[in-house]
Amino acid sequence: MKANIVLLPGDGIGPEIVDQAVRVLEAVATRFQHSFSFSSHLIGGISIDRSGDPLPQETVDACRASDAILLGAVGGPKWDDPSAKTRPEAGLLKIRKELGLFANLRPIRLFDQLIDSSPLRREIIEGTDILFLRELTGGIYFGESGSGGSGDDESGYQSMIYTAGEVKRIVRLAAKAAQGRDNRLTSVDKANVLEPSRLWRRVAAQVMAEEFPEVQYDVVLVDAMAMHLINRPRDFDVVVTGNMFGDILTDEASMLPGSLGMLPSASLGEGGPGLYEPIHGSAPDIAGQGIANPLATVLAAAMLLRHSLSLTEEADAVETAVEQVLADGLRTADLARGTDSVGTEAMGSAVVQRLGQ
Ligand code: NAD
Repeated sequence: MKANIVLLPGDGIGPEIVDQAVRVLEAVATRFQHSFSFSSHLIGGISIDRSGDPLPQETVDACRASDAILLGAVGGPKWDDPSAKTRPEAGLLKIRKELGLFANLRPIRLFDQLIDSSPLRREIIEGTDILFLRELTGGIYFGESGSGGSGDDESGYQSMIYTAGEVKRIVRLAAKAAQGRDNRLTSVDKANVLEPSRLWRRVAAQVMAEEFPEVQYDVVLVDAMAMHLINRPRDFDVVVTGNMFGDILTDEASMLPGSLGMLPSASLGEGGPGLYEPIHGSAPDIAGQGIANPLATVLAAAMLLRHSLSLTEEADAVETAVEQVLADGLRTADLARGTDSVGTEAMGSAVVQRLGQ
């Protein structure tokens, strides 16, 4: 297969971790005889410095013409001035919107070797493997808002709106993901209180009954889900929810494995290229030191292989290689907890070596 992959290294540790993920993708290309071409483009703070714009049109055009996009991270104290004309994060929001990336996929998977890093007890957390799908371009974050009045009558509001079409497309994507996993889907809403949640629940049930009758389907209220994630996380397979509930629940869930440096995510639209990135930020406190953990970005590259290029065996091979280097005892500083650690490049080399075996 030939694939054209756009790299958006961004700021802070972004370039260091993307470099390692590219080495891993090159090793996949060699082992499985594919041809991947890479081109690097500007986004975020570095892009503001060089072009005055956190997302130049040239980057958008390159992304549109690509098969998939791999992003490092954006942001840092240099661009934090609240009075600045623009900010690095604006680049990230704009690229999602430009490409219509309405679904954010966040797998919460535990690596056996790191299980004791979890804040939860082994007997609760062991076996947890959840895929979250968060709706990314609708709901309350994009609803009409306003404020007015004064004194005790001063008020602010924000509308939560979902259309049936928005619900259908994310539920379909989630159900298809469930078919490729344990065939179970949970939809999370607040239908006991919110009108858009009642629409969500009705439309989701209809899609599941008509199009995916063989997928085991249930619904959970968001407040209950917040408890279940801590209490019985391994009971869930695929979870689909709206923008705000997904924002909160995926951050809660990302703490379960106990290490930010291991979690990838994907943002997908209808057709077109997907965007893959680690869930952590640009870690300015360790940038340039060669100690960042590249594995979240390597695992994001595995998601890219699976979801944008349909290369399942290749994606599995990358994930297995990551498991093996952890089993070999290799840890970057964030995972080592005071014991011996390896740097960013050595961790990348270990994954590449395992892939070559
Ligand atoms: P962060 O995720 O960058 O860092 C939090 C802590 O985790 C830091 O101590 C950092 O050193 C550590 N860390 C993060 N990733 C690591 C890795 N791969 N290896 C080892 N340690 C790692 O969050 P923050 O400090 O709140 O934010 C820093 C900047 O990143 C801010 O400008 C923020 O806006 C931005 N940010 C960007 C994204 C994104 O690009 N998607 C996401 C979150 C935050």
